[in-house]
Parts: sequence; C-alpha cells; structure tokens
Amino acid sequence: MMKTIGIIGGMSWESSLVYYRILNETVKERLGGLHSAQCLMYSVDFAEIEVLQKEERWDEATQVMIAAGQRLEAGGADFIVIATNTMHRMADEMQAALRIPILHIADATAQAIQAQGLERVGLLGTRYTMEQDFYRGRLEKMHGLQVLIPESLDRQIVHRTIYAELVLGQIIPASRALFSQIITELVSRGAQGVILGCTEIGLLVRPEDSPVPLFDTTEIHARAAVDLALE
Ligand code: GLU
Repeated sequence: MMKTIGIIGGMSWESSLVYYRILNETVKERLGGLHSAQCLMYSVDFAEIEVLQKEERWDEATQVMIAAGQRLEAGGADFIVIATNTMHRMADEMQAALRIPILHIADATAQAIQAQGLERVGLLGTRYTMEQDFYRGRLEKMHGLQVLIPESLDRQIVHRTIYAELVLGQIIPASRALFSQIITELVSRGAQGVILGCTEIGLLVRPEDSPVPLFDTTEIHARAAVDLALE
C-alpha cells in the first residue's frame, strides 16, 4: 500500500509545482500505468513567511510550520515533506510536535552525495541555509561531509536572486551566469559537488552550468519521498 505524502508547500509555489510533478512522475516510473502519488499539500502564503524570516521571528515561523504539519497529520498524511530547505530550521521542533515523521531534506541530500562517493561539497541556498548551523551542521556532524559556502558577496548575490527572482518565477540568464561563476569558485576551493540547497535553484541552474555534479535538493527530496511512500 502506498503511503500518503504530506507536503508543506508554497515556499515558494514555484518549487512546490516541481515537487508535485516529480512525485507523480516518479510513482508512475516505479508502478507504471495510471499510478500517481497519493498526497496532500498544505500550501502557505509565502509573503507571510518571508516577513517572519527577514525579521528573524523564528518562534512565530515555527508555530506556523507546526500548525501546517498538524493539518497534514489530521488529514491522514503518513509522513511530512517540508518543501523548502530554509524552513528545515525548525524541523526538530516540528518533529517533537508531530506523531508522523518528517523526511529531512538534508538527510536525503547527504545520502545522494555519499552514494556518489563525495566528501567535500559546496552549498548554495538562502543566507539562512548557508550561514546558520541547522543545515550545514547537520551535513557535517550527522553525515560527516565537509561543506563550503560562497564568500560573503557571493552569498548576497545568491540570496537576493532567490527572493527577487526565483520565487517570483523569473529565470534570468545573467543570474545563471553569476551562479555558474560562484559554483566554479567553490570548485576552485575544493568542492567535488555542489548542493542546490534552495528548492528554486534548479529552475535556474542546469547540470551543464557546472563542472562538477549538482545535487538538486528538490529532485532528491521528492524522489526520497516516493521511496518512503512505496517502502
Ligand atoms: N525554497 C527556498 C529554500 O529551499 C527558499 C524559500 C524559503 O525561504 O522557504 O530554502
């Protein structure tokens, strides 16, 4: 029996769409025929979330995320997929408030990196994801990876591109070229692969924009969700 996947989406909906497509395509690939993903999505208003992030009102943001998880739990979800890297900041508090498990995006990503035998990776994401400990710390302490982040100015470029372009569905070639340079810089510092640690970056950056393997967290997370749903 297929499990019901509970997705907390809308952060942004541009990437939630991609999750929904990959979940369904992957179930179809695995089971064939008319099979599709059994799932629920609770999609938030991202404008409200973005304010809480920018003003560092993390306690309030945690309450919003817990409430979203509880709605999915009440709706019959068997496990939770938080469809954004940044909002894994409160994954531990959410897990403590829920009975059903959260499939952590960083754990799925670490497994994909280790499956390719890599140890040292670059990380691109929002400034919260790149600079705070909840994401890098988990990759380093729980999974033994070495994580490199861009220099300060490059982090600003990545963060600004996410919030001013990608979550608005704007895919701009000049930004792709900048990301490609930032990736090349991480590679020159020893990165053997680069994590696209924001669920919208895969809309902009393609494998051919990088000299090393890219780990697209949206794709990895959605496929891991299907693995768990079909287990
Ligand atoms: N989707 C992005 C992420 O994966 C950023 C949006 C958000 O802040 O949730 O981190």
